[in-house]
Amino acid sequence: MQNPFYQPLISDFESLATPMREALCIGVPVIEPCSFFQSKGLDLAVDVLRLDAVHPIISGNKWYKLKFNLAQAKAAGASELLSFGGPWSNHLHALAFAAKQLDIKLNVIIRGEEWRDKPNALLADLQSWGAQLSFVSRQTYRRRNSADYLHKLAAKSPNIYLIPEGADNFLGFLGIGTVFNQLAGDCAERLLAAHSVAIACGTGNSLIGIRQALPSSKRVLGVSALKGDWYEASIQQKMWRYWPLPTGKLQVFSDYHGGGFGKLSPEIKNFVHEFETNTQLLLDPIYTAKLFYGVYQLAQHGYFPPGHRLLLVHSGGLQGRRSPLLDS
Ligand SMILES: *Cc1c(COP(=O)(O)O)cnc(C)c1O
Repeated sequence: MQNPFYQPLISDFESLATPMREALCIGVPVIEPCSFFQSKGLDLAVDVLRLDAVHPIISGNKWYKLKFNLAQAKAAGASELLSFGGPWSNHLHALAFAAKQLDIKLNVIIRGEEWRDKPNALLADLQSWGAQLSFVSRQTYRRRNSADYLHKLAAKSPNIYLIPEGADNFLGFLGIGTVFNQLAGDCAERLLAAHSVAIACGTGNSLIGIRQALPSSKRVLGVSALKGDWYEASIQQKMWRYWPLPTGKLQVFSDYHGGGFGKLSPEIKNFVHEFETNTQLLLDPIYTAKLFYGVYQLAQHGYFPPGHRLLLVHSGGLQGRRSPLLDS
């Protein structure tokens, strides 16, 4: 199943990340069938890759995007980490807990000065896990990837390792590609049988990492959590930049954002309530709600041929249910 270029590229990182994975008690993901779509009369066999269940806090796709970054930080002898995120960042939540458990100092830059005096549940978690929080204006936050700003931040501490927002870097891309490596038995068979694999996207790094990890015979679909027509082109561009080899088809759907990033339409909320009541599988309001809703819409509009087998990646993020987004 694995791309032949990939294994030699990651084996050193993997050996550094393995003791961390064990110390953090990250579990092995499973693939489970989901009967919701068939119960709605659709001829579509859906399985779910339960990344949400690999760890109660280091949730979903975030461990995979972080693991080689943490391995690299360790290999480089970094004494502290610096990263970025919004006030409900799943990335910062996972990173802060991992850093605390691994006893690494963590600094984070939070978008929005208004949160300084009224921290939400996520920011309170970060503080209780010992992360050092700095709140910046949206204007300053926009410079989070600019070289001069990063240089200034890094100058404060000579041994700092920088992880971009969402671990949206090459090591994050390589790490998420390992997401299928530990599947065995029935789960491995379900992956093999899938015609397509779909995941929600923010930065899109998980989407392209998964594309790279799968044989080109499988279709890979992304459902964007953000509004914008520019989105798919930017993802395709990043794919070529990170992985200048031919891969299979990669398609992004941008119509199921429900009003934009961090927003939800009444239709998506209704869908989530019905889906959760029916399946007992919980979705997060920022990403997976839009993935499952989007795929349901596509299926209803006849996008998938009869008998299609679709693997949905549950990328986690359930801590975000503490935000008021899903309230009706
Ligand atoms: C961060 C996140 C995503 C988006 O991942 P990207 O690699 O940034 O596209 C998807 N789902 C959940 C639950 C997330 O927390």
